[in-house]
Amino acid sequence: MQNLLQNLNPEQLAAVTLPPQNALILAGAGSGKTRVLTTRIAWLIQTGQVSPAGILAVTFTNKAAKEMLTRLSAMLPINTRGMWIGTFHGLCNRLLRTHYRDAALPQSFQILDSQDQLSMIKRLLKAQNVDDEKYPPKTVMYFINNHKDQGLRAGQIDAYDAIERKLVELYALYDDQCQREGVVDFAELLLRTYELLTRNQPLREHYQQRFRHILVDEFQDTNNLQYNWLKLLAGHGTGGGGALFAVGDDDQSIYAFRGANVGNMSAFEAEFNVQNLIKLEQNYRSHGHILDAANMLIANNSKRLGKNLRTDAGHGEQVRVYEASSDLQEAQWIIEEAKNLIAEGASRSEIAVLYRSNAQSRVIEHALFSAGIPYHVYGGLRYFQRAEVKHAIAYLQLMDNPHNDSAFLRVVNFPARGIGARTLEQLQNAAESYGISLYAAVPYMVGKAGTSLGGFVKLVEGVRFETQQMALPELVRITLESSGLLAHYATEKEGADRIENLEQMVNAATQFVSEEGYGQGAPAHLGPQADAQAGEAIVNADGVEILDADAPLATVMSPLSAFLSHASLEAGDNQAQAGQEALQLMTVHSAKGLEFDNVFITGLEEGLFPHESSSKEDGGVEEERRLMYVAITRARKRLYMCFSQTRMLHGQTRYNMKSRFFDELPEEALKWLSPRVQSHWFANKKATWEDAKLSGGSDNAIAQRIAQQKTGGSGWRIGESVVHAKFGEGVIVNIEGSGSNCRAQINFGSAGMKVLDLSVAKLERL
Ligand code: ATP
Ligand code: MG
Repeated sequence: MQNLLQNLNPEQLAAVTLPPQNALILAGAGSGKTRVLTTRIAWLIQTGQVSPAGILAVTFTNKAAKEMLTRLSAMLPINTRGMWIGTFHGLCNRLLRTHYRDAALPQSFQILDSQDQLSMIKRLLKAQNVDDEKYPPKTVMYFINNHKDQGLRAGQIDAYDAIERKLVELYALYDDQCQREGVVDFAELLLRTYELLTRNQPLREHYQQRFRHILVDEFQDTNNLQYNWLKLLAGHGTGGGGALFAVGDDDQSIYAFRGANVGNMSAFEAEFNVQNLIKLEQNYRSHGHILDAANMLIANNSKRLGKNLRTDAGHGEQVRVYEASSDLQEAQWIIEEAKNLIAEGASRSEIAVLYRSNAQSRVIEHALFSAGIPYHVYGGLRYFQRAEVKHAIAYLQLMDNPHNDSAFLRVVNFPARGIGARTLEQLQNAAESYGISLYAAVPYMVGKAGTSLGGFVKLVEGVRFETQQMALPELVRITLESSGLLAHYATEKEGADRIENLEQMVNAATQFVSEEGYGQGAPAHLGPQADAQAGEAIVNADGVEILDADAPLATVMSPLSAFLSHASLEAGDNQAQAGQEALQLMTVHSAKGLEFDNVFITGLEEGLFPHESSSKEDGGVEEERRLMYVAITRARKRLYMCFSQTRMLHGQTRYNMKSRFFDELPEEALKWLSPRVQSHWFANKKATWEDAKLSGGSDNAIAQRIAQQKTGGSGWRIGESVVHAKFGEGVIVNIEGSGSNCRAQINFGSAGMKVLDLSVAKLERL
């Protein structure tokens, strides 16, 4: 026990060893929240206060859950497999698999990732003859998901106008369709579980009694439904139920756009009568200058619960700030600095490049690729999202549940089998009028359409029969072959990569069965009932038998079902497996909870970070500032920030002003690498850095040379900051002509880009 607790500071120790009561640990970034939560689980088990089965811990990503299990195994001599530690989605999936009947789901229900969900909505709109300009599929999807996140079904929404009435109607139709196909989307996993537990008293009481300790990381980002789900499991208001231990940081609440409600923290404090509120203020992650920057920045936000961070580590190095002329040059600078770090012995995986929007990564990726530096993009197209992999998954889904229409449509004519759009339309009409799945509607088709569709059904049934007794990896291999996918890609010009990806899937299946505790030879289709060690039957006071979802997934799902849900959940997680020796590229959102020795924050420009959409929403800029706070506090030793005067984004060149966040950082913590005037000059198209390079010399010499030149004889310089009586502050981004014909293009930020005649415009230097 000494070992577990000896590396904690007094506040951490107090938090870890709190009595079994509701508690809120409110603390800033890097103060050890996640560490406290993990150590508390270990301590509770080690001191015999609870068995591993009595713990329910919710983390933010699958990766975080895995890490927690690994750390626990290192702290305790127990088998952590089967422990209830996971994401909200993962835990709900497990509950629904166990109690699928009570939840009115088919045993082999499948999970729709967001891509599948969107295509399903598109199909629905088409079938309903809905104008998709008036009701864009994405709008419909957000409408449905937002309401599910609020815990509301279509029948519970009060529509206030005709448009909303239509959306409500589509929501209801969509839910019917999902039910017919036996599929659930991400939000549904939660809502279904919530409804199941609300409705089913014995089940609810069983879990309330079972989970003595419920622990939640990143509590500030829970949405209303998640909070209610926790309330239900913690037996709020019943007198029974376990203790809820929540850790969070209001300054890191960055998912309001997805329905997260930071108000859950104070609601929790009040509703659960929290007596134990502990603040951790010692930061163990970052050097002083980095922490100062974070503290001073976030002090600009108004609604804060109030806490600060201090560190015993020295100041460390200043934050290096660089101003580039273009996004290309920004990328080049990142590469140079990263190379220096690597030369100094930094591991590539300890270098992270963060950006606000995914679209920014392309240029950086390209530069890294050209420089031969291995890199890894989080949240990009994940393995399970790639087209060829999704095709293979669709075949497997059909074998597990042929009524999944999304899977059916994805592969019914892939590889091509001469099944055309008209045939499918007829099939869809038939399915619609009988209220059945496409698969079930095939026998109603006659003529040529009937023959070709019948052939497809035969194929699926054939493979299913053939693989009846096979273990999962073998089943996957046979499916890849029999489906014709391998042969199809073999004829494609660029098919080699795709074939490799498909073959990877056999390995993924092998790894999966061993990690999840299935016997290597366990038949993939075999349902859990056939398993001798399926969850024990528990009879509650009312004599109702409850199957406890105690054991690994192996006891509640067939290997195939489990593998398919793993694929969907992983495809929906925005953090990938890390760990390889590669530079780490990711959005600030997906960097949450992570830490790196060296961090670059890129694209710090008005309109990009803070994002332009934020100025339109109440509290939008504050949310962006919290995002910036998350970005800064990822760094342990070195932090770099950069921005660029021009950037190609979405096919347009944007002229940018530096982010307002620079004005909110302590001067002494920053080191400006490029004197502002000098580097502004690069924006001039007539003398780009590349042109200047042609005359040779070191990078520095070129910069000096360029800086000494003047433009147009107007006395003004590109890059200069100016003030205009009407438009306010701006930056000169280009100058054309000379003398009385001299005009300047000036970016006035929110007032827009203006071209002014310099001989008459009333400009002042800033
Ligand atoms: P975030 O808000 O970013 O999620 P956090 O509060 O969860 O951060 P942790 O990730 O738990 O913080 O801890 C940050 C770092 O500090 C980790 O590397 C952790 O191992 C280390 N750390 C935490 N507490 C201590 C301690 N008492 N002594 C030494 N190192 C510590
Ligand atoms: Mg954490």
